[in-house]
Amino acid sequence: MKRIKTDYLVIGSGIAGLTFALKVANQGLVAVLTKKSAEDSNTRYAQGGIAAVISDKDHFEYHINDTLKAGADLCHEDAVRVLVTEGPNRIKDLMAWGVNFTRDESKKLDLAREGGHRMKRIVHVSDMTGDEIEKILLEKAKSHPNIQIFENYTAIDLITEHQVLDNLQSAFNICFGVYALNNIKGEVEAFRADYTMLACGGACQVYLHTTNPEIATGDGIAIAYRAGAKIANMEFIQFHPTALYDPEHEPFLISEALRGYGGILRNSQGEQFMERYDPAKELAPRDIVARAIDSEMKKNGEKCVFLDMTGLPAAEVKKRFPTIYAHCKKTLNLDITKELIPVVPAAHYLCGGIMTNLSGQTSMHNLLASGENTHTGVHGANRLASNSLLEALVFSHRAALKVLQKPKPHFQITIPDWDDSGVVNEEEWGVIRHNRHEIQTIMWNYVGIVRSKNYLFRAMRRINLLYDEIEDYYKRTRVSKGLLELRNLTTVAYLITRSALRREESRGLHYRTDFPDKSEKFRKDTVI
Ligand SMILES: Cc1cc2nc3c(=O)[nH]c(=O)nc-3n(C[C@H](O)[C@H](O)[C@H](O)COP(=O)(O)OP(=O)(O)OC[C@H]3O[C@@H](n4cnc5c(N)ncnc54)[C@H](O)[C@@H]3O)c2cc1C
Repeated sequence: MKRIKTDYLVIGSGIAGLTFALKVANQGLVAVLTKKSAEDSNTRYAQGGIAAVISDKDHFEYHINDTLKAGADLCHEDAVRVLVTEGPNRIKDLMAWGVNFTRDESKKLDLAREGGHRMKRIVHVSDMTGDEIEKILLEKAKSHPNIQIFENYTAIDLITEHQVLDNLQSAFNICFGVYALNNIKGEVEAFRADYTMLACGGACQVYLHTTNPEIATGDGIAIAYRAGAKIANMEFIQFHPTALYDPEHEPFLISEALRGYGGILRNSQGEQFMERYDPAKELAPRDIVARAIDSEMKKNGEKCVFLDMTGLPAAEVKKRFPTIYAHCKKTLNLDITKELIPVVPAAHYLCGGIMTNLSGQTSMHNLLASGENTHTGVHGANRLASNSLLEALVFSHRAALKVLQKPKPHFQITIPDWDDSGVVNEEEWGVIRHNRHEIQTIMWNYVGIVRSKNYLFRAMRRINLLYDEIEDYYKRTRVSKGLLELRNLTTVAYLITRSALRREESRGLHYRTDFPDKSEKFRKDTVI
């Protein structure tokens, strides 16, 4: 088995992983593992931008209060203060690295406003902020002599004292690196590191409808959970009200800026329905719009509703939303200025994840985490728009500062070979695809936007069955990326459902028909 030794091991090449890599690279060797091409990430799909206090009229306290309000009394205020007060400097880092944010006529940063923000504070690069950031960070990382990017490597599990116990009797709860699959060769290799950073992104592929790309299978969370790290608040999933309904292609977000500009939601009968749900109609908060659409679809047995932009000036629509216009034209041959856009709510963002302190440290020694796979405490029960790229920047920076201050850990260990004795099967792609679809359907139907005890129990019984079957299949089958993702998705489905069952109240993004109100008893994190 091939063994690679590095100082810093980073799993994931999105904004969280690459920021950490760039910040530690002058002090040691960095290996970045990423399971597809390096640019494949949630990061590159971010359209809106990054929230930060930039304008003279804005104030840290305003951004802090907006974040706390969105989080429905569940944010950790110390984490929110760090996020907000350190945010502007992290935007400066991005600009120093070469990110060219859009500027207004007076050459100042153009600040947009999004739902829940009382001020204009979103820096952006047109409507493709994430794509630009990902491109610049990757260029920087690829040109740094100490950073090596390993594409098509899927991290399988952490190497802990359990694997190296024979030669390290006294260790407890320590991470020494990971076993990873070289997807191309089909071989498992060991990466040994002083510090390991999990930056594997979100998990919304666990749902049938999602805005997330295929990589978002919650691997970091499942890997950390199997190793015994603490996981928190997995029940809080943000559903975006409007993803393009287009089962044939990769997920695509129809930004709320279209509703902000005057787009109208209609059901299959052509009725404008939002006024029946909220006085703010189309501009009600995301969770209310998502629940309204879900209810209309269920009532009429429809697969989607429609966003109507046809009454708005066509030239302006094309100018303001060039990416969305071009995408709909290319994939569905649909002209959004003349035809209705089919939309469906879709799982968009996971607020919970691996618990970390304010420096990215998890509950395991030498294991760090940052980005969407973490629970830092900043989002509480609902994420304020455009705070997630910021979270990754701020906490990756702090994690880097922390490890650079620490003495390097020294352990004399030998990593045993990957044990695939007893493996008899080659993977069966049909089985994997079928099971993945089954989990996504269960989660969509029973652990989706509207939940209840009966539905959650129904989901739990099915997930437990699948969990056992898939573990058994895993033990008998040669590992592949598809199988690893399936195993991780099942674990994430279990964690979300278990957390949702525990929270017997409705708060933020978690809505239960059997407990429709907020309860003081549950004003705490759900920790597993
Ligand atoms: C459509 C869309 C629009 C969004 N818009 C915004 C926005 O405007 N503003 C905002 O703040 N946020 C936005 N978000 C959320 C934001 O983009 C993400 O939260 C953020 O990019 C996550 O960054 P990350 O580095 O944690 O993860 P990612 O960018 O998802 O990167 C994860 C990386 O880990 C790798 N990986 C995963 N598992 C493994 C494994 N087992 N082995 C090896 N590698 C692995 C992946 O391949 C990938 O490289 C949006 C998200 C989406 C989907």
